[in-house]
Amino acid sequence: MSLTHSHNRSFTDSHVRLEEGGWARETTIRELPTSKELAGVNMRLGPGVYRELHWHSESEWAYIIAGTARISVLDLEGGCYIDDLKEGDLWYFPTGFPHGIQGTGDEGVEFLLIFDDGNFSEDSTFLLTDYLAKTPKSVLAKNFRVDQRIFDSLSEKEKYIFQGTMPGSLEDDRKAVIPSKTRFTHRMLDQKPTKFPGGEVRITDTKNFPVSKTTAAAHVTIMPGGMREMHWHPNADEWSFFLKGHARVTIFAAAGRARTFNYVAGDVGIVPQNHAHYVENIGDEPVEMLEMFRAPYFEDFSTEQWLAQTPATTVAEHLNLTGFNKEKFLKSLSKDKTAVKPPLRKNKSMSDMNKALEELL
Ligand code: MN
Ligand code: MN
Repeated sequence: MSLTHSHNRSFTDSHVRLEEGGWARETTIRELPTSKELAGVNMRLGPGVYRELHWHSESEWAYIIAGTARISVLDLEGGCYIDDLKEGDLWYFPTGFPHGIQGTGDEGVEFLLIFDDGNFSEDSTFLLTDYLAKTPKSVLAKNFRVDQRIFDSLSEKEKYIFQGTMPGSLEDDRKAVIPSKTRFTHRMLDQKPTKFPGGEVRITDTKNFPVSKTTAAAHVTIMPGGMREMHWHPNADEWSFFLKGHARVTIFAAAGRARTFNYVAGDVGIVPQNHAHYVENIGDEPVEMLEMFRAPYFEDFSTEQWLAQTPATTVAEHLNLTGFNKEKFLKSLSKDKTAVKPPLRKNKSMSDMNKALEELL
C-alpha cells in the first residue's frame, strides 16, 4: 500500500444530507480512497426523530457520540430486540437484519455508524417506505390481508429521516414483542478499562460482544503528552475516529516511507493492515479515539513487547547498542504491553542518559 493516497479526512468535508430533524454525512471509499474495508456515517437525529425502518447488505456497528436513542431490530427467529442507548454505547446489526433508530431525550442523538464495506452508501439502503411505495396496493392488500384503501395514505417516496413522536417506556415497548435471545447492544464506556500510565483502553470484540462478528474496536484515552504505543494490526486495516482532543499519528509504510497526520474531533484516519503506527497527544486535553477493524477480534503487535521478547544480544546487535546504552535499553524493555505510554519523565530523557553515560566514562 502506498502512502500517496490520502489517509485522513474530516466528516466536516463531507456532503451533508439535511433532513427534517436530522442529518447524515458519509466517509466511504468515495471520499477517502483508503477506506476500503469499512465505511463510516456520522448521523444526528433530534428528539423523537426517526432514521426510518430499513435494512442493508452490510453489517452495521455504531457508537453513540452524544445524547440518547432507542433502537429496534428483528432477528432470524422472529425475536425483536429493543434498547435505550446513551453516550459510549454500541449496537451491531448483522447483514440484512431490519432495524430502526429514534433520537430520544431533550437533545436527541449523534452517532458514528461503521459498515463492513468501504463501498457502502447511506443513500442506497432498503427503506420500508420506498419498498411499500414500489409495491402495488393490491399486492399489499393480499399480503397483509386487509382492504387496500388502508394504504391510501402511504408516502409516495421514502421518508428516510423524519420527525416522530417520542417513544413510551422501554418496558412497555419490550412487553409488546416476543423478545430476541440475542444481545445487539453493548455498553462500551461502562466496560472496566485496562489502565496504563499514559491512559486507558477498552476493547470490544466477539469476546465480550459476540454478535459483532465483523467489527472489532478499541476505545483509547491518551493523557496529554502521552502516546498510544508503536504497534501494528496483523488482521485488518484500522479505521480511526477521533472523538476528543488533538492527536498526531505517524504511519510507517516500509521501503523508507513514513507519514504524519494531525487530527481533531470529527476526523477519520486509515492505517493499512500491518503498517506500524503511533498516536501522540499533542494537546492539553485527553485524546479520545476509536480504533475499528473489519475483524471478529482486536489484534495488535507491540514493538516494545517484540523487542523485550527477543534474545538480548540479537536486539543489541540490531540497534548497535553496546556498554551502558545496551544495559540501560535492554533493562527498560517491558514484556507486558503498555498500550498507552506516559509522557517521558525528566530523569529518563536521552540527554540525562547521555549525561549519566559521560559520568561513567
Ligand atoms: Mn442501518
Ligand atoms: Mn492502532
